[in-house]
Amino acid sequence: MFCVRCGSSDSELYEGLCRDCFLEDYSILRIPDRIEVRVCSHCRAKFISGQWLDEGLPDEEIVYRALEDSISWDEPVENPEIELEIMQERGTIYRCLVEVDAEVLGKRLSQEYEVEVRITNTVCPTCSKQSSGYYEAVIQLRADGRELAETEIETADRVVQRTLLKLSRRDKLAYLPQRVEVKEGVDYYIGSHKSARKVVDAIREKLGGITMESPRLMGQDKSTGKGLYRTWISLRLANFRVGDFLSHHNRILAVIDLRKKGVSVRDLETREVKNILWGEYEDMDVVGRADDVKTTTVTSRSPGMIQILHPETFEPVDLEADSYTSTLDIGEQVPVIEIDKRLYIIEDEAEE
Ligand SMILES: [Zn+2]
Ligand SMILES: [Zn+2]
Repeated sequence: MFCVRCGSSDSELYEGLCRDCFLEDYSILRIPDRIEVRVCSHCRAKFISGQWLDEGLPDEEIVYRALEDSISWDEPVENPEIELEIMQERGTIYRCLVEVDAEVLGKRLSQEYEVEVRITNTVCPTCSKQSSGYYEAVIQLRADGRELAETEIETADRVVQRTLLKLSRRDKLAYLPQRVEVKEGVDYYIGSHKSARKVVDAIREKLGGITMESPRLMGQDKSTGKGLYRTWISLRLANFRVGDFLSHHNRILAVIDLRKKGVSVRDLETREVKNILWGEYEDMDVVGRADDVKTTTVTSRSPGMIQILHPETFEPVDLEADSYTSTLDIGEQVPVIEIDKRLYIIEDEAEE
């Protein structure tokens, strides 16, 4: 076998050439002469190999990364050492030098490549969505069979703001382009589905309630061909609030907390606290409101019994004492609720 260029016959051939001829026009690495990097002028995200990466790096760092990312190797390069240098900077055009040192076929080679990196300022899709008021979800906050209370709206507003602020570090579409008060409640427009779900969870952690999602196909994403959905998330708060009274499976219960996991209640007879899941909402009937609570006086006690005055008729009423009422003293003022012509002494939950 002979080298097709110099005719030497004494060594192994590489693509028909001897080692020296082969290395003469060998390029240790491949890098384009010009690299363009698109960078979002709002958030500094950059467009790299087909996608926007949210890195927020300074321009020089972007240039170095762009050089690194654009280098590719061919066999049989070993132990390459690369040095990158920005030789000249003119506006957003960087003239760079890539120096490489490597072993190829047992011989040390050094090469230099000149590369121009251009940073083009543009607006990433997320920022352009933001500036156009884009949203993927609408949270419709409502209350079941009643109006929302001012305090509930204030709580929800606060939770929405706080949750979005926290999420916005990772999700640029965790933002609120619009908040609309409608007759039935409040609509929160949220940039991304993901953040809307988290916001709903956070509101439910404070106010409870039942959710229902209805996605609607809005069109098609021109770049990906995927369907574009917008989701309406209905968050319906319970008809009852903390302090109200429910009947559930023939038990009379005081509502002491509303959370995502359910309704926390105290049984007015056993004094037991338990959690009822939202799935059982339809089985919970309101039998009394916090406003219906009256105050009366303990008039006498005997083992197993306690006597109070009816808060309206002032007739003495005997009740069977339980773990809580047996600790009350004669003369003490106690809150009571009348449900189905029966009086229940209730505990002041706030004191717990
Ligand atoms: Zn040769
Ligand atoms: Zn951006």
